[in-house]
Amino acid sequence: MKYGRIYNFSAGPAMMPEEVLEEIAAEMMNYRGSGMCVMEMSHRSKVFQQIRDEAEADLRTLMNIPDNYKVLFVQGGGTVQFAMVPMDLMKNGVACYVETGNWSKKAIQEARKYGEVKIVASSADQNFTYIPDCSDLDIPADADYVYICENETINGTTYFKLPDTKGKILVSDQSSMFLSRPCDVSKYGLIWAGVQKNVGPAGMTVVIIREDLLREDLPAFVPTYLSYKTHADNDSLYNTPNCWSIYCCGKVFRYLLKNGGLAAMDQRNREKAAILYDFLDSSKFFTASVRREDRSLMNVPFVTPSREQDADVVAASKAAGFDNLKGHKSVGGLRASIYNAMPREGVAALVKFLAKYEADHA
Ligand SMILES: *Cc1c(COP(=O)(O)O)cnc(C)c1O
Repeated sequence: MKYGRIYNFSAGPAMMPEEVLEEIAAEMMNYRGSGMCVMEMSHRSKVFQQIRDEAEADLRTLMNIPDNYKVLFVQGGGTVQFAMVPMDLMKNGVACYVETGNWSKKAIQEARKYGEVKIVASSADQNFTYIPDCSDLDIPADADYVYICENETINGTTYFKLPDTKGKILVSDQSSMFLSRPCDVSKYGLIWAGVQKNVGPAGMTVVIIREDLLREDLPAFVPTYLSYKTHADNDSLYNTPNCWSIYCCGKVFRYLLKNGGLAAMDQRNREKAAILYDFLDSSKFFTASVRREDRSLMNVPFVTPSREQDADVVAASKAAGFDNLKGHKSVGGLRASIYNAMPREGVAALVKFLAKYEADHA
């Protein structure tokens, strides 16, 4: 790796493509003859407007987003979406949630402040190590939407088949899998993703929302900023947006387009994940935590036979030049996050390290 950079397995904020960081560095002091850095620009300037418009246009191309969907760049991270979704989409005050781990639990907790939440499927019985069957959910007639966390960052599960929502709106938290594989946007009412996992710098959430879900008649208590319509009506420039994140994410969108788009990412991500999972499955010391058919290609949790050994591997990995392999405090063990920007060589190097650790210690 150049510049003394290391393989960083952080779940987020996480690695960005080196080529993108180099481009940003080259434009830092004077963005394309504007005489200023993007961080210093008015969000109402022509030059920034173009940065924003290009970012949206490139994302639309990348995901093939239909014309009847709006693309919004909002702040507040995933945590604000946990509240914004029920505030904006609950008309009858009833919503269905699939409970698959920490991030769907957080979403459920927050939604309960605004209405009735029905948990229509859960994998709590096996510590969230699988995705429950969602082919025949018991969805009440008055449900406003069905909510999923499509990739549980902490637990390491992902949906390879979307739930049958029986005609209800599907809402998905794609934070830790956004742009990792092709996505048929038309199957969703709303997709949101905090960009600090698989795209760019923290502080921005991309929301893709079907136009008919933008409401004029929101309850009076809903803050102006937390109405999707506010952002849709103002090209995400109602107030000062996170200009820096929009700029950096725009660079990543362009980079992905140049490198074969989402189909190419999917191929690469499958290959990368297979290197790690194949090793874990063949190991007598390390064990992958998640059921085979529901394994995330982005976040790979695994364990050794004991907590002490988990901690020892984390320490040894750090000494060997890898970082952020410690599992989330709520589940323990280890976790390797291998997003789009993690090179294949990084995963191969990690496997080599783990194999040597096993040979030396087991
Ligand atoms: C990180 C994460 C969140 C929370 O994002 P914040 O921006 O920290 O609020 C929500 N959902 C998923 C799937 C995440 O990975």
